[in-house]
Amino acid sequence: MKILVAVKRVIDHNVKVRVKADGSGVELANVKMAINPFDEIAVEEAVRLKESGKASEVVVVSIGDISSQETLRSAMAIGADRAVLVQIPIDMILEPLDIARLLQKIVFAEQPDLILLGKQAIDNDCNQTGQMLSALLKCSQATFASLIEIEGSALLVTREIDGGLETLSLPLPAVVTTDLRLNEPRYATLPNIMKAKKKPLEIHDISQMSFSPLGQVKILTVSEPKKRTGQCTLFNDANALVSELQAKEAI
Ligand code: AMP
Repeated sequence: MKILVAVKRVIDHNVKVRVKADGSGVELANVKMAINPFDEIAVEEAVRLKESGKASEVVVVSIGDISSQETLRSAMAIGADRAVLVQIPIDMILEPLDIARLLQKIVFAEQPDLILLGKQAIDNDCNQTGQMLSALLKCSQATFASLIEIEGSALLVTREIDGGLETLSLPLPAVVTTDLRLNEPRYATLPNIMKAKKKPLEIHDISQMSFSPLGQVKILTVSEPKKRTGQCTLFNDANALVSELQAKEAI
């Protein structure tokens, strides 16, 4: 079984994001970047499936500017076998449907049995790409996976839903998006980081892919959240908190 994992380069989740003065986006200059955390979980899951003998190859794909090579190398240091970069100009902004259309092209070329994505990219919180990709591919999908098992030719995916767990059986090929509790990604060891530098990384320039962005969604403005004005009150015990909330008719 071949697994394709989509990984996005995003601002590291420990960094405090700063909005640009003109409201056109967020500051990216000299900011620490990292693999999107849900995508790291997806890579870890694919590598575990390979280590358990259920998968034969793990390919990672990213759509981004040249610096996304670094993200792909990080994914290969976790254990992916090779990488594909769809290189776009540094100032090109693609909406989730464009990303899904580009991933569809890579899926046609690679013919994977299982396609793993994160449930959302932490920079835009869209939570759309996996669902759109499965619609474009006309294949089955399971979102927010907290457990993935392979039984014969079927894929069993457990999802956390309100009030419990739901387990689905899907035919392959399938698109699955990962949730936080699926696994805890390993730290890449130094020897594996070194090995990843030598693994194959194929680059497709978007200008050579007969692709035009849809340009349907435009970001009008980006702004900081409003500063909290309310004062913070410390309560000595829970009863005092409950009385205060009752007085304010909050409960
Ligand atoms: P989103 O729909 O933007 O929240 O992203 C959901 C998932 O789609 C991410 O967790 C990634 O797995 C994948 N994805 C989104 N953007 C990209 C990108 N530029 N390159 C590769 N994968 C992406």
